[in-house]
Amino acid sequence: MASDAPTSEPVLADYRAILERERASLERQLAELGHGESGGLNYDPNFADTSQVTAERGEAEALAGELKEALAEVEAALARLDNGTYGRCARCGQQISPARLEAMPAAQLCITCASRA
Ligand SMILES: [Zn+2]
Repeated sequence: MASDAPTSEPVLADYRAILERERASLERQLAELGHGESGGLNYDPNFADTSQVTAERGEAEALAGELKEALAEVEAALARLDNGTYGRCARCGQQISPARLEAMPAAQLCITCASRA
């Protein structure tokens, strides 16, 4: 029996696995930067601040900010998997192309909206 008809449903389980792996990786990187579940970085206010330390903190903070943003996107994508809206553009409601989702599983916008943003 020929069952090669294109299906409009992406293989959600695969995206979930990819996103969960991504989330675990981001959480591990955040934990290494001191931004794990236990809370943010604990700055000692009495610690003598040198410009070197300040610069290193600034870089770590910038990286942590990027990781947190990526983590929020991954978690939002997982939430969309749960509520059945995964794969739809958050702006225009069109189906996001599977090729785009494969490249960016956490993508919230279709290619048209993303290139307009
Ligand atoms: Zn769109």
